[in-house]
Amino acid sequence: MCACQPVSLVESDYINISMCLGCKRVGLHYKNILCGFEYYDYEQFNESVQRISFEKHATEFCGQPRHVILSTCHTDIQFCFTKTEFKFFKEALNEGALMLEVQKAITNGL
Ligand SMILES: [Zn+2]
Repeated sequence: MCACQPVSLVESDYINISMCLGCKRVGLHYKNILCGFEYYDYEQFNESVQRISFEKHATEFCGQPRHVILSTCHTDIQFCFTKTEFKFFKEALNEGALMLEVQKAITNGL
């Protein structure tokens, strides 16, 4: 039985980031994809995404404008972003990390 109590951390057009008050897992909902993270894995994921520069890492993508491709914990599944999408994704991830810090302070540690 699921006893999760999700608290929303970030809500925007395509992205919703939440954390469960019970099991402390973080959910990243981007368009139709839902990825789950342990708290520290989310922090690490955010830090590694913030280091990625679209200009340096974007590649040609099936005849479409350049996209940046991000690995997930599942080797066969990747995120794929245009420049604008990636900018918003990075901002939302960072906002989620800041909100997690706030939650940590409120709940006295995760
Ligand atoms: Zn839970």
